[in-house]
Amino acid sequence: MILKQEAIILRSVEYSDSSQIFTLLTPEYGKIGVMAKGLRKSKNHQQSIMEVLNYIDLVYYQKTQNQLGIVKECSLKYYFPSLRDDWGRLLAALYCAELIRECLEDNDPSPKLFQLLRFALYKLGNLGNPQNVLFYVQTHALNLLGFSPKLDQCMECGQEWPASHQMIYFLPKECGGLCESCHSQSHNKHGITIQIPTMMKLAMFLQTARQGSLDAMQFTTKESQELYHFFDQYLQVVLDKKLRLSPYIKQLCEQSIEGAIPLAKL
Ligand SMILES: [Zn+2]
Repeated sequence: MILKQEAIILRSVEYSDSSQIFTLLTPEYGKIGVMAKGLRKSKNHQQSIMEVLNYIDLVYYQKTQNQLGIVKECSLKYYFPSLRDDWGRLLAALYCAELIRECLEDNDPSPKLFQLLRFALYKLGNLGNPQNVLFYVQTHALNLLGFSPKLDQCMECGQEWPASHQMIYFLPKECGGLCESCHSQSHNKHGITIQIPTMMKLAMFLQTARQGSLDAMQFTTKESQELYHFFDQYLQVVLDKKLRLSPYIKQLCEQSIEGAIPLAKL
């Protein structure tokens, strides 16, 4: 069967001397695998189109849904040029691609996750603040997976966070947090700690982001570190694995990325 899809390239792996296998995200079929035969031969014009993070139009042949598709034709829809010029933005984009890839099983369509990744790439490709794009994508990926964190009140006593309390103890499996007094009485002494003002600022950021402005708010290094830790720990529980690029975006959140990691290491 010949299929036509728009797609974002999430990952590529070399296969034989001349072919390459790609993991793609499509709106209609979700995450799919395709092989581009002869792609690595010199003079194949598809090489520059089939690059990770490119947004493409694809025609491919697939015998059955569980088999690898074979690329017939491809053309570039968008290249996100400024992603490749800035280390932090490229790293953030690669992390978003990895996160969305791990959120999905093969052939499990999620047009909203597709839209989320495309939105993130457009923002990063248009000089958006990489930290803010990361926090936005992490929050929305959790929402779309059904793990939206409930953070407006203590899940035990139901109280909104008292001003005298500084910390929330977030319990990933329950998707909610405990206030300090409930936490001290609880048998469950685990939880991701996060400062209440940081969580309030995240909520405000998400509100302004809904109106289309992701760059209106700046997080301090300390707040970014806290949010990095929160999302990292929470996603690790939800996805049941640690994302490969997670340690690298930690450095991005700590704003010490420049020249820190050789590209070949990723
Ligand atoms: Zn409480």
